[in-house]
Amino acid sequence: MEFIAITCPACWQSLEIESPTFSDQPIIMTTDCEVCCRPMVVTVEYVDPNDDPMVSVEPES
Ligand SMILES: [Zn+2]
Repeated sequence: MEFIAITCPACWQSLEIESPTFSDQPIIMTTDCEVCCRPMVVTVEYVDPNDDPMVSVEPES
């Protein structure tokens, strides 16, 4: 199982989440921060299935 590192946009804590796979695209996930419990929206975009994905995190509005 692969994990990707993200940073919580609310408290800046580094977190690891289970990485989706290339075939899961398009990937937009909502997850709660383990530290501050605030929800965030994580978007994962694979450019190449053999490369690490681009990951962006935004606070849920
Ligand atoms: Zn947080």
